[in-house]
Amino acid sequence: MRRNLPVFIGCDASYDEASAALFGAPFDSTTSFRPGARFGCSAMRTESIGIETYSPYQGRDLSDVKVFDAGDLELPFGNADAAIREIEKFCGIVLDDGKHPVMMGGEHLVTLGAVRAAAARRNGLRVVHFDAHADLRDEYMGESLSHAAVIRRVWDVVGYGAVYQFGIRSGAREEFEWARSHVSTELFRADTAPRVARELSGRPIYITLDLDVLDPSEFPGTGTPEAGGLSFWELRNALMAFAGCDVVAFDICELSPHYDPSAISTAVACKLLREMLLAFL
Ligand code: MN
Ligand code: MN
Repeated sequence: MRRNLPVFIGCDASYDEASAALFGAPFDSTTSFRPGARFGCSAMRTESIGIETYSPYQGRDLSDVKVFDAGDLELPFGNADAAIREIEKFCGIVLDDGKHPVMMGGEHLVTLGAVRAAAARRNGLRVVHFDAHADLRDEYMGESLSHAAVIRRVWDVVGYGAVYQFGIRSGAREEFEWARSHVSTELFRADTAPRVARELSGRPIYITLDLDVLDPSEFPGTGTPEAGGLSFWELRNALMAFAGCDVVAFDICELSPHYDPSAISTAVACKLLREMLLAFL
C-alpha cells in the first residue's frame, strides 16, 4: 500500500534520489493590497495535473530530472521573522544535502529566507529578480520585513552589484534613485537577460520570479497586478538565458489564485515552474 498524495506533476522522486526539493511556503501576512498568495502553492500542486510533464520547448521531460515534493512548510501566520527563519532552516538542510531548494510562494517576502540560506553557503551569490515592482523600500508602513521591501533585505545579504532586476515598472521615486547606485535594474523589459547570464557565468545564482512581472492580461491572479508587463514568451526566453548557469536555488511567488476564477494564472505558473525545473536542474 502506498499513499496517493498530490505532488507537483512529475515531482515524485524520493528525497534521497532527488537533485531538488520542491516545497510550498504558504505565507502572505505582509501582502500590502489583496491577500491570498498563501493559496498559491497548493493551487499549483493540485492544478499541475492539467499540464504535461514534457516540454516541447526544451525536448526534456520531468521524468528526466529527479524532484522530491516535500509539501508545504507550516509557517506561523502573522510572524514574518519566524516564517523567514523556518524557510531558511529548511533550505539550509536541502543545500547541505547537496540538493537545490525550489520554493513555491506565498508572497514575495518568503524569498528572503531562501536567499539567506544560499548566501551563507555560496560565496559571491548573485540574485536574479523578475518583478513588476522594485521591492526596494527600506520599510513599508514601518515594517522592514515586507514583500514591498524584500529585495532591499536581500541586498542587505548579498550587497553592492549582486542583484539584477528585470521587468520593473513600479515603485516609489526613492526606490529608483537608490537602485541606480546599488543594484542593476532593467526597466520594463527582460530581453537583456542573455547578456547578464554571460556576465554571471560560473557564479552561483539565486533566481526569484515574482509572477506579477507578467502582463495582467496573461496573469491576472495576483495581489498587485501592474499593467505593461512581459508576455509568457518574453519571460520564458529571459529565464532560459540562465539555463547553463550555476543556479543554486530558485522560487516562484505571488500567485493569488482566487483573483482568477478561470485558473489560467495557475496554469501559467505551473508551466513556468516546469520550464524552470527542466532548465536549472
Ligand atoms: Mn515582488
Ligand atoms: Mn511584484
